[in-house]
Amino acid sequence: MSEALPRRFVRPTPPVLGIPRATVRREVTLPLRTPDGFSTTARAITFDGLVDGKEHVALALGDWRRALRRSAAGGQAPLVRPHSECLTGDVFGSERCDCGPQFREALERIAVTGGFLLYLRQEGRGIGLYTKLDAYALQERGLDTFEANLTLGRGEDERDYTAAGQMLDALGVRRLALLSNNPDKAQQLEGFGIEITERVPTRLHVSPSNLRYLRAKARHSAHTLQLPPERA
Ligand SMILES: [Zn+2]
Repeated sequence: MSEALPRRFVRPTPPVLGIPRATVRREVTLPLRTPDGFSTTARAITFDGLVDGKEHVALALGDWRRALRRSAAGGQAPLVRPHSECLTGDVFGSERCDCGPQFREALERIAVTGGFLLYLRQEGRGIGLYTKLDAYALQERGLDTFEANLTLGRGEDERDYTAAGQMLDALGVRRLALLSNNPDKAQQLEGFGIEITERVPTRLHVSPSNLRYLRAKARHSAHTLQLPPERA
């Protein structure tokens, strides 16, 4: 008889949503306090079987168990934000993008209604930290964020939400209210068979440093952003 395989090599159970199945690996409590004083408690949930082998984490916030029960009974779906990692914005507080304020906003809004923030380890729209910083160097020479990625031989947006779909499946989330301005996230998740009951836009976080970035985002990827008019 063969020995029992280490857990990470266990063959996943058959797919339900058209993607391989992942399972919850562990959950722990994280008391959170943001630099501006907001505090809440999250359950940080890790997974086995994610397709890309990356260490994505779900933060379950507010009364998420009740939100799941309510949704299963046909009521209001849990609020979910898939948030792609941004070391410079989320941790360093860089104002070149709006990731930090969006992360902060999402924590509070999800804590109120109950739901999940999926923290996805795909820095720089999936191109990685160093290449993102290379792209910033090109932006200092006048290219916008998408043109810079293309100049580096990378896609405008290489993010893939398959692991996010797996995480939602493992959490028992089949329908959700999506906290996002990005139509690509909605399309990819719906493609896995997840029902999006509502698209909830995030607030606009404009600063003098990120206005150009936000305009490029609105122009290139059909983000629903109400930006102040460009001066002629
Ligand atoms: Zn960012």
